[in-house]
Amino acid sequence: MSRVYADVNAGLGKSWYDYENLRIEWNGCDRYEIIRRVGGGKYSEVFEGVDMVNDDNCIIKVLKPVSSKKIKREIKILRNVTGGPNIVALLDVVRDPSARYRSLVMEYVENVEWKFLFPRLTEVDVKYYTFQLLSALDFAHSHGIMHRDVKPGNVMIDHQRRKLRLIDWGLAEFYHPGTDYHIRVGSRYYKGPELLVGYKQYDYSLDMWSVGCMFASMIFRREHFFRGADNYDQLLKILKVLGTDDFDKYLDKYDVQLETDSEDLLKRYPKQAWSRFTSIENQPFVTTESLDLVEKLLRYDHRERLTAKEAQAHTYFNAVRLEAISAQGECVSDSGFCST
Ligand code: ATP
Ligand code: MG
Repeated sequence: MSRVYADVNAGLGKSWYDYENLRIEWNGCDRYEIIRRVGGGKYSEVFEGVDMVNDDNCIIKVLKPVSSKKIKREIKILRNVTGGPNIVALLDVVRDPSARYRSLVMEYVENVEWKFLFPRLTEVDVKYYTFQLLSALDFAHSHGIMHRDVKPGNVMIDHQRRKLRLIDWGLAEFYHPGTDYHIRVGSRYYKGPELLVGYKQYDYSLDMWSVGCMFASMIFRREHFFRGADNYDQLLKILKVLGTDDFDKYLDKYDVQLETDSEDLLKRYPKQAWSRFTSIENQPFVTTESLDLVEKLLRYDHRERLTAKEAQAHTYFNAVRLEAISAQGECVSDSGFCST
């Protein structure tokens, strides 16, 4: 069971988490006009658009024909988290007259693609954006929701405005203790060990692994930190850094049998010191604090990983926390953010 926020859905009640019985009222799409395609993936085609009523830019995420249950889940979750810190806002749900195309209209972020952005981030930026991402996650987790697909492609950063938004709630799910969840979620480089070994009773801490991967990539200046060619290789990349001794303890603790005939996965690997990844280029990013934080996020054992809230309290973020307090004056809540 999750160390934190385990019972929030039980407390908030069925109307909060029951998405299957959601009835969606789709609006017409006349007021929106498409400007250009900005992305797309397995589940959608995404366009930048304009809302002609107020002339605001927006994002129109045209959903591919997936199950209505999945669509309801994404909408329910987006409605629940909209308004939370650094979380993309859902503005409207629309369909065309034939009802063939259903779209989510969302807040637009002038994002710079990760592979161009991350080399430009300064030490202060890394600290600032990681903290912003953690506040989005703490908000979701404290409201009973795990994102399950945290990765650079789902974290939009408008660097000019220093604005970060966690997007793509298409794989997000409500956390109910004791539930078996699908392990085919997330994106390979950011998949937690629990997914790679087939442990299904995971929780919010899955997202904290992904944050750890993003953080490691930023401080060590690699586009992606663990870069596996497939899921087995992904696990192997992790084993070669965290070592096999702790891995065995992890499997043992959760009574997981690793099903593999891969010889490489059965070999022994020593645990590497995180400082080993220091180089001339990343040296300014690698400090006692940043190493301590990465070490506390990238743990096999999901129960040992820092929670979003605990990570925000880490000394690594002292400077950002002070900045947030002085910038926002009296309306600062204990999470470091304005609650109004
Ligand atoms: P995937 O399968 O790749 O995870 P998806 O179909 O679930 O994608 P999203 O991740 O929501 O869709 O959006 C796909 C892409 O569209 C994003 O990676 C991003 O480039 C762009 N995009 C989505 N939402 C926004 C936004 N609010 N602002 C700017 N760009 C966005
Ligand atoms: Mg995505």
